[in-house]
Amino acid sequence: MYCPFCSHTDTKVIDSRLVSEGGQVRRRRECAACGERFTTFEAAELVMPRLVKSDGSRQPFDEAKLRAGIMRAVEKRPVSVESLEHAIIQIKSALRATGEREVEANLLGELVMEALKELDQVAYVRFASVYRRFEDIKQFSDEISRLNDPKAS
Ligand SMILES: [Zn+2]
Repeated sequence: MYCPFCSHTDTKVIDSRLVSEGGQVRRRRECAACGERFTTFEAAELVMPRLVKSDGSRQPFDEAKLRAGIMRAVEKRPVSVESLEHAIIQIKSALRATGEREVEANLLGELVMEALKELDQVAYVRFASVYRRFEDIKQFSDEISRLNDPKAS
């Protein structure tokens, strides 16, 4: 990279080490022209795709919102913070794994439902009832019988 002091195009790495528990590389560089030294940090850019809602509007992925939605669903349920955080990490990597810059917001909803189904069935039904806007008690009980009998789905 260019020297930030004299804009010379040739700088050399004189030291390189892992920091932040291996999440970053810290490099000391020296300019071949002016001899100034500076430090750069390198980290993987973890870009989350934007969400496209059914009305066509776009919104950035919001981890706090995702966490809040999941927390609401698992409230007072025997779900550890650890498994909840694990689910969030999995949902995020599934979104990134699409390799898309934009994904349907529905996909996120489906991923959350899948994760909750594994974690806790009551939490799953709570989330699904809000997400799918169950119109009546029949739809709700259909969903519950599907849970009890995986073959029926
Ligand atoms: Zn320089």
